[in-house]
Amino acid sequence: MENNHYEVLIVGAGISGAALAYELARYTDVESIAILEKYEKVAPLNTQGKANSQTIHFGDIETNYTASKASITKKTAKMVEKYCLQHKLENKITFSHQKMALGVGDREVEFLLERYEEFKELFPNLQVWDKEHLKTIEPKLVFDADGKERPETIVGIGSQGEWTTVDYGKMTENLIENAKKEEGCETELFLNTQVKEIEKQEDGTFKITTTKETFTANSVVVNAGAHSLFLAHKMGYGLDYATLPMAGSFYMTNQTMLNGKVYMVQNPKLPFAVLHGDPEILEHGLTRFGPTALVLPKLERFKPGTYLDFWKTLNFDANIVTIFWDLLKDSDIRNYIFRNFLFEIPYFNKKLFVKDARKIVPSLSVDDIHYAKGFGGVRPQVLDKKERKLMLGEASINTGEGVIFNMTPSPGATSCLGNAKRDVMNLCTFLGRSFDKEKFEEELVEHNLPQSVIDEKLQAEYVSEIRAEIHEHEEKYFQNVNEGHELPSYWEKPYSPWRNKRDHWSM
Ligand SMILES: Cc1cc2nc3c(=O)[nH]c(=O)nc-3n(C[C@H](O)[C@H](O)[C@H](O)COP(=O)(O)OP(=O)(O)OC[C@H]3O[C@@H](n4cnc5c(N)ncnc54)[C@H](O)[C@@H]3O)c2cc1C
Repeated sequence: MENNHYEVLIVGAGISGAALAYELARYTDVESIAILEKYEKVAPLNTQGKANSQTIHFGDIETNYTASKASITKKTAKMVEKYCLQHKLENKITFSHQKMALGVGDREVEFLLERYEEFKELFPNLQVWDKEHLKTIEPKLVFDADGKERPETIVGIGSQGEWTTVDYGKMTENLIENAKKEEGCETELFLNTQVKEIEKQEDGTFKITTTKETFTANSVVVNAGAHSLFLAHKMGYGLDYATLPMAGSFYMTNQTMLNGKVYMVQNPKLPFAVLHGDPEILEHGLTRFGPTALVLPKLERFKPGTYLDFWKTLNFDANIVTIFWDLLKDSDIRNYIFRNFLFEIPYFNKKLFVKDARKIVPSLSVDDIHYAKGFGGVRPQVLDKKERKLMLGEASINTGEGVIFNMTPSPGATSCLGNAKRDVMNLCTFLGRSFDKEKFEEELVEHNLPQSVIDEKLQAEYVSEIRAEIHEHEEKYFQNVNEGHELPSYWEKPYSPWRNKRDHWSM
């Protein structure tokens, strides 16, 4: 481009930057876009396939999502699915696995059955799977190492035949390739180009200084992951925010254990996905368990440096102390943080991790898994200093002056096209450009929900059978109380002497 000047300049070639470039090129009349990436290839950090869990988060099996949150998440998640189908990326970039939320013990089972009633309209393909059915579709959830059935009540609420999984690294490459193909807009990618400084000039345009050339642009969107806030602070924006980098690691099984994705009931206080099991698309379907969650004093995983950038972006002060204090005061969060710390310590890590993962696969042993070296990434969780709290999910700073900064912890890959649409509309207003909403809606928005193919009568039978089982446990529990046996609390159900010995399995 002449004089290195662009209408929109995007910092960062992860999935967020790539999705924005694609939407600008395809659905607006913006004429020139530059994407600047610090490293030698696109998606080198959190977006690459090994860094994240590769899940499209629709909200059906993520039990910390409320129905209203799930209805929004589903819309943006569907955009990823629709993009992949439109560009014929099935079994190359997007994959289909069965998926479920697994409830273990009466309390979780009842919670999931209630949730099913609330969510089945929004997700018409959701099914209830009892223990008998799980034996056929996901047997490792049912049997222990001796081949015996696990004693607790369990239920799987899930679906089959849907697109569940994406190699977000490859999708990033595809988005940029397709952006470049759009006529009427020139999209250029600059690798090995680290942005050092963004300055607003007197004429209202921006000057972007990099480790290579200098660029100018009418508007700038910073999709630099954990470094977005670092760059915002440099310009004097977002000073009320700080970044807490939460590293996530994984363990891989030595052979395939699960046929599909198995999520557990999530403690809603925790902003990070609870441990789950997923078929690994880059390792021939081996099962990947994780992620763990550990605060790392650096902004990039598996790359040298960025310790100083962490301290600068944390901007340590009394508000940060208050936020940490409030977090650590909560015993659930404190235990979770401590346990996850131990997951990184050699010798202890595998043993402890296996204990937790046995809630999914009761037969799992230390010899079945290994630490997945080179897998994992960093979730830049945002701390709101004004409100003195840890923010759940993503954050965006739209300055209204032509520069936007996006912070994207999980599920940032799922929401890439939805976030990009928000930025596209803001940019079009700022630049006086137009957005082809009709074309966007036609190509990327799901309008007609698929009709349910589920046998409702059969499902109702399963629900009442599982509830009868819970009821039986309840009767036994109260009978024991009446007979004067000392029992812990109501929620320690199902009453089972076996379970009491293994209370570390409970959440
Ligand atoms: C353990 C884990 C599991 C996850 N699982 C899921 C999941 O299952 N589903 C899901 O939807 N999401 C998941 N996520 C979240 C998801 O991976 C991220 O939200 C997403 O990849 C963020 O993409 P991004 O493009 O915003 O940021 P990144 O992928 O971090 O990309 C930022 C880019 O900016 C570049 N950059 C930084 N600074 C500069 C600079 N100064 N100049 C130029 N370039 C710069 C970086 O090199 C990088 O390429 C997970 C994350 C983790 C860590």
